[in-house]
Amino acid sequence: MAIFDREAEQMERRELAQLQLERLQATLHRVYKNVKFYKKKFDAIGFLPENCQSLEDLAALPFTTRHDLARSYPYEMFAVPLREVVRIHSSTGSPGAPIVMGYTARDLRNWAKLAARVLTAAGVDRDDVVQVTLSYGLLTSAFGIHYGVELLGASVIPTGPGGTVRQVQIMRDYRTTVLVSTPSYAQVIGDRLEEMGVDAKSLHLKVALLAGEPWTEAMRREIEARLYLTALDHYALSEAMGPGVAGECEQRQGMHLQEDHFLPEIIDPNTGETLPAGELGELVLTTIHREAVPLVRFRTGDLCRLDFSPCPCGRTLARMSRIAGRADEVVIVKGINIFPERIGQILAGMVGEEPVYQLVIGREGHLDCLEVRLEVREGLFFDKMTVQRELLQKLTRKLEQGIGVTPRVKLVEPNSIKRETETSPLVIDLRK
Ligand SMILES: [Zn+2]
Repeated sequence: MAIFDREAEQMERRELAQLQLERLQATLHRVYKNVKFYKKKFDAIGFLPENCQSLEDLAALPFTTRHDLARSYPYEMFAVPLREVVRIHSSTGSPGAPIVMGYTARDLRNWAKLAARVLTAAGVDRDDVVQVTLSYGLLTSAFGIHYGVELLGASVIPTGPGGTVRQVQIMRDYRTTVLVSTPSYAQVIGDRLEEMGVDAKSLHLKVALLAGEPWTEAMRREIEARLYLTALDHYALSEAMGPGVAGECEQRQGMHLQEDHFLPEIIDPNTGETLPAGELGELVLTTIHREAVPLVRFRTGDLCRLDFSPCPCGRTLARMSRIAGRADEVVIVKGINIFPERIGQILAGMVGEEPVYQLVIGREGHLDCLEVRLEVREGLFFDKMTVQRELLQKLTRKLEQGIGVTPRVKLVEPNSIKRETETSPLVIDLRK
């Protein structure tokens, strides 16, 4: 399989660390000099950029949050004068004021290169026809991919979202080979193909590059079967750049993170402590090669784990797992962080399908207790007690191993947890 930038993507880890340190030091100097927000933050703890002598020194610095960015509306976080900014995007999905992102000409060139790496890792090359159904506008989503496709020399069709009948016609008539969309829109296209009586096998699709919302392995299998293609995950973070931050290779064992541009850390979302490699926690990124709006220790709010082991594809860049949920959804039971989505993953592994479940956290005496309610198939629910009991024991053991707390597992009848109506949330916390 092809690699877009061998020098960067296959860099020896030791060499990469050296490059990261140099870029980190340069970034810290620049933000200290040019961004009041960082000058104030660094001064408050008596930190000078020259104090940063190793990558570990980064952990001493304060975090940057979405609230900080919103409070800096519109240009307070910019590290360059506006005349050097050639593109402005903004996000609206945050509380408070929008978050404004600026790009210098070099930032845009780098963005295209990083997107081209992700596209290449997904198997896209210059012979491909790429249909981009993401939104073109203030949001970053479509643009990074768009210019990455052009840089690769493939053909891009900028359809933008919506108009699904037309999307399908274009897909068929223009012989689209790569679909760029959100996982749910890929499902919508699947529905429309069926309604229109178009056999996915008669199309030329080979790859779908999906991101923008949480999705699961079960969804991947379904999309692959319905659209008759390979579906790959990538990670887009508008505050850090947009799409192109990380993407899966053909191994599909995590998304290679562009560590020569983004320095990753995994922290405990409740304490802010840095966690050891391989642990599940909140992803924190420091942009180390960005000119217009560099970010130091930006809390993404996304939960994942990092894998630094070598990948058979030959890339040396660390791999981040599929996003396991949002840090603000973490609940603490008996002093242990529980990620509701993690419980979902464990249940899915056990019952072999998308589980419908709910967590109820309460107190027994002075102790926290966790109940996991899981919907089971009709047949199983009315099955013999011994079968149920065996399943309960197995589930309890697996969950205990996976989350570090022994839950009480309760099997409930099909359709008794109605998540889609929003009337029963994923977590019910009775301690509040
Ligand atoms: Zn790989």
